Amino acid sequence: MVLRINSGWHDRNRIREGATFEERLDWHLAHARSCNCRPVPAKIAGELRKRGLL
Ligand SMILES: [Zn+2]
Repeated sequence: MVLRINSGWHDRNRIREGATFEERLDWHLAHARSCNCRPVPAKIAGELRKRGLL
């Protein structure tokens, strides 16, 4: 399995240490749209689906 990393996106979108759950939600939502180097964690994916964002 080949994971493609959008390193340009990652350079522009560093998640800060100690980010809140809300910040992580935003980050993973943007990440999933721009890059597929890793899956959205189950807890984050569940919350995004609940909000109709994923
Ligand atoms: Zn990525």
